[in-house]
Amino acid sequence: MKVVLAKEYGFCFGVRRALKLLDEHLATGKKVYSIGEIIHNPVVIERYKGRGVEFVESPQEVKEGVGIVRAHGLPQSCIDEARAEGREIVDGTCAFVRHISKIILQERKRLPDVSVYLVGEPEHPEVIAATADLNGLVKVLDYRTFNPEDFDFPQKAVILSQTTLEEEKFARIACSFIKEGQEIFVYNTICPSTRRRQRAAKELAAQVEAVVVLGGKKSSNTRRLYEICQVLKPSYLVERASELPVEEIKKYRVVGVTAGASTPDEVIQEAVHFLENL
Ligand code: SF4
Repeated sequence: MKVVLAKEYGFCFGVRRALKLLDEHLATGKKVYSIGEIIHNPVVIERYKGRGVEFVESPQEVKEGVGIVRAHGLPQSCIDEARAEGREIVDGTCAFVRHISKIILQERKRLPDVSVYLVGEPEHPEVIAATADLNGLVKVLDYRTFNPEDFDFPQKAVILSQTTLEEEKFARIACSFIKEGQEIFVYNTICPSTRRRQRAAKELAAQVEAVVVLGGKKSSNTRRLYEICQVLKPSYLVERASELPVEEIKKYRVVGVTAGASTPDEVIQEAVHFLENL
């Protein structure tokens, strides 16, 4: 079978940084905690568990040593509170997630009477990290249930996106605000890594018979890649090559491979090798 890799795939800037922080602190010999899953990939989580990292849900569970905050973050207030209690907390929150909070604050200051909307998944950690401390300053619009027919569009608004949203979905919602309103300020805060991976996935799906998308099932950016590919070609979302339906996939002659921003290289190489030998 011929295997074509997407032009961009795998670890992004924020994931590399968070894992580097874990590695650096493990090297000091201290007890290391990951506050939340450092990244959404079970292979990586198991590897760090094997190296002694303890995974906890909140900074308050960091009893000794150091706690590293997951790449998709925690509200700044949670981190500050834990530090004030004397805990050593290192913030692994990706800069693109923090940037969203900065824009919201800046826009609320500049346009105090204008509503600010963040389009995304309200329950996603990065949305919580970016908005939890901004009570009342921003409304989160769930793109999965947003219906322009039922929405009371304001004349003036600021709109931002979750960093891992699909570009077209964000653009569609932003356009509906533009159509209905008069002064609409749109910030495309989808992070550059997500944008490049989504565009590369689309390009890849156009040239192959089927696409394998590798990544954690809880990883938002991986699911977005799968959704994009699925529209164009039969697509398979798996965490490892061993989950692929072999008999089904064997019928293709050219298969594309892409991977979410939290999928390690070893998983990608293993899948490529597996497919090439079918
Ligand atoms: S996907 Fe984007 S926002 Fe998320 S960790 Fe990677 S670079 Fe940061």
